[in-house]
Amino acid sequence: MNVSKLIDLLNSRGFKASYFDDVDIAMEYIASQVSNTSVGIGGSMTIAELGIQPILESAGNKVFNHAINRSAEVLAGASLAEVYFLSANAISMTGEIVNIDGRGNRIASSVFGPNRKKVFYVLGTNKVEESLEKALFRAKNIAAPKNAKRLSMKTPCAINADKCYDCKSPDRICRATLIHEYPMFGIETHVVIIKGNYGF
Ligand code: SF4
Repeated sequence: MNVSKLIDLLNSRGFKASYFDDVDIAMEYIASQVSNTSVGIGGSMTIAELGIQPILESAGNKVFNHAINRSAEVLAGASLAEVYFLSANAISMTGEIVNIDGRGNRIASSVFGPNRKKVFYVLGTNKVEESLEKALFRAKNIAAPKNAKRLSMKTPCAINADKCYDCKSPDRICRATLIHEYPMFGIETHVVIIKGNYGF
């Protein structure tokens, strides 16, 4: 898999894409890009595993992380923040970033916020797929079942986290799918890809 080709493609579309094979350098890069502002963080195992919140706080940012505090105040703070961090369920080598959401706040915040200036997608190379079709398959059959299990949802996929059963459960977490192809007008959108396995 030639990730540098994907980086070039994303940059040609106006994203600010970068690849790191050293996670520490990736975190230094992130800290250098966001300081003394407000930051929202969407539910993401990748962001948690990488310890991005304390890095952002050390850079003087006020962080609203609704993965760990789902109060209305934190949700509103994340929506209104100038910068938003999330991961992706998958990205295709053809340049589409895929996320499935149950509540909608995460995918909404990745493309809009009344004060939004920057969005950062942070993901491991484990989420890079050859095609949009495979990226959608990954999001639905790998990421979603693992998230359903992590969240203790009463869905058939949560039992073994093996595949999607296209359930109609009240706990279904797959309610909207976003395919992000180009940065939105007025939002500087970074894609930070790090060598290795992070999140689901
Ligand atoms: S549609 Fe239902 S079974 Fe399929 S991944 Fe989503 S929650 Fe799981």
